[in-house]
Amino acid sequence: MRKPLIAGNWKMHKNSTKAVETAIRLVDLIPAGTTQHDIMIAPPFTALSQVYEIIKSTCVSLGAQNLYWEKKGAFTGEISSEMLASTGCKYVIIGHSERRQYFGETDETVNKKINAAICADLIPILCVGESAQERESEKTFSVLDKQIKNGLDNCSGDFLKTLVLAYEPVWAIGTGKTATTEQAQEVHQFLRSLIEKIFGNQLAKSIRILYGGSVKPDNIKNIMVMPDIDGVLVGGASLDSDTFYNIINFNA
Ligand code: PEP
Repeated sequence: MRKPLIAGNWKMHKNSTKAVETAIRLVDLIPAGTTQHDIMIAPPFTALSQVYEIIKSTCVSLGAQNLYWEKKGAFTGEISSEMLASTGCKYVIIGHSERRQYFGETDETVNKKINAAICADLIPILCVGESAQERESEKTFSVLDKQIKNGLDNCSGDFLKTLVLAYEPVWAIGTGKTATTEQAQEVHQFLRSLIEKIFGNQLAKSIRILYGGSVKPDNIKNIMVMPDIDGVLVGGASLDSDTFYNIINFNA
């Protein structure tokens, strides 16, 4: 049985004060002992430690939005997996399309980051997804195939047992356009069978595959009924805790 994960990516929003206020509001809304889903928020690096202090004894977990694969050294401006773990992070988002698009992230750097995350006992959330142009030219499956094969190159199914995938069609991120639930399910099913082909049945059955792209309180229910969708990665709608709580609480 796969436990759904509802994850919020705050991107480059909120200074420490605002991040703490948002986290306080979220834990106030979530009843103690909620265990129906796993819940994660990923504030900017600068607020990780302070947000951790607010959520550490609740069911909300901390995530980071990126990492650098080296353990330490002269890498100005970078943050290692061990540094993230020491702030209380449990998860780390890797290969988000904004990082691929604006910061030159490739499947090869994604691969190094996945390895570094798992070695530091962080749960990686690997983001994959096609652009509008790739979908229009019917390249969706070949793009995803390449992102998965190269991003997870040389990893074993056992090594990847905590891995979470997030299917985020680039054309649906922050645009208000959502993939239809049928489009999303079709891709999630494809990803699960690809994982089965490469890593075996055990990982394919247990891996959580999240959907991301303009998830809102009014579309979450339809998304979550799909059999291969095991949660969501939420950007814009996670910035306001009342809205995010309405997503978390979708089956109330
Ligand atoms: C995201 O950034 O991962 C995302 C899905 O953003 P939004 O929900 O704003 O589309």
